[in-house]
Amino acid sequence: MSEVKKYDIVIIGGGPAGLSAAIYAGRAMAKTLVIEGEATGGQIIKTAEIENYPGQLESESGYTLCERMLAQAQHFGAELVYDNVVSVELEGQPKRIVCSGAEYEADKVIIATGASPAKIGCPGEAEFTGMGVSYCATCDGAFFRNLPIYVVGGGDSAVEEAMFLTRFSKKVTLIHRRDALRAAKSIQEKAFATDGLSFMWNTKVAEIGGKGALTSIIVEDTTTGERRELTPGEDRSMGVFVFIGLVPNSALFPASIKDERGYIITNEDMETSIPSVYAIGDIRVKTLRQVVTACADGAIAAFNATK
Ligand code: NAP
Repeated sequence: MSEVKKYDIVIIGGGPAGLSAAIYAGRAMAKTLVIEGEATGGQIIKTAEIENYPGQLESESGYTLCERMLAQAQHFGAELVYDNVVSVELEGQPKRIVCSGAEYEADKVIIATGASPAKIGCPGEAEFTGMGVSYCATCDGAFFRNLPIYVVGGGDSAVEEAMFLTRFSKKVTLIHRRDALRAAKSIQEKAFATDGLSFMWNTKVAEIGGKGALTSIIVEDTTTGERRELTPGEDRSMGVFVFIGLVPNSALFPASIKDERGYIITNEDMETSIPSVYAIGDIRVKTLRQVVTACADGAIAAFNATK
């Protein structure tokens, strides 16, 4: 491995939280590196339209918003590298971050690794992922033009993405395990008025199957336990989009800084219990996981880290 590169601040994760921290840290003249494993923007780049980020452009997508955030961070001197972090040593000084391609040292580390979509865990889900099962409507919606689409979940994500998917097909059904949605009332109202979107209540997906294409979904009534099969009928196949919450991407970090679900515990200055280690955005224990709160977390952490 090449020589160890040294930074004042290393930010692990390049979503809205990490990029906001990079803007503030760079602007405070700290030598700052953002390490991103996949694509900058995190989960929000999978969102076709954002409506509630203050001052956003009209019809702004998650991707375009994050593109501008990245440009702004780089404008203030923050560096970006695409690499996978394989281990971290956070106790003591300097902190060490070992990636597949390089090794870094930093005085301060800001953890912004976010969360990933939760899985149903039913038979066939893994086998049909990418072949009918998807966790991203923006990425995969167009593959299901005019085909039956089933969306699983009842939160903001499931309901918003179900509405978005009606652009491609007027045969979208949201499957929810209860008889009431968890999504915000304003989102629910829009959804109930959306042409092409219907609801299957008190239902869970028990099995996904088919030969080659996805052609069978076994659903179970959560009140009676009764099972039945959904098929594409005259259509050749169908799609299942899963939005049932998030799992924190925190496997790399010590149990001492996490709660029982794996989210990282911080104080209001975004400090973890390890000195000079901060956590921001969806990875953190918090009540509201939104772009605006992720950005606020990033600003607070970078402010405290550069004070
Ligand atoms: P969420 O709010 O945690 O909702 C998860 C939904 O999936 C719930 O309806 C839940 O059912 C259901 N669910 C959970 N496990 C399930 C399982 N094993 N099988 C079937 N259904 C299951 O997750 P989210 O919608 O992804 O949202 C995550 C966070 O992002 C939230 O804080 C949300 O407010 C935020 N968000 C905000 C916006 C926005 O403001 N526009 C958009 C997207 C996301 P129950 O209701 O029965 O628990």
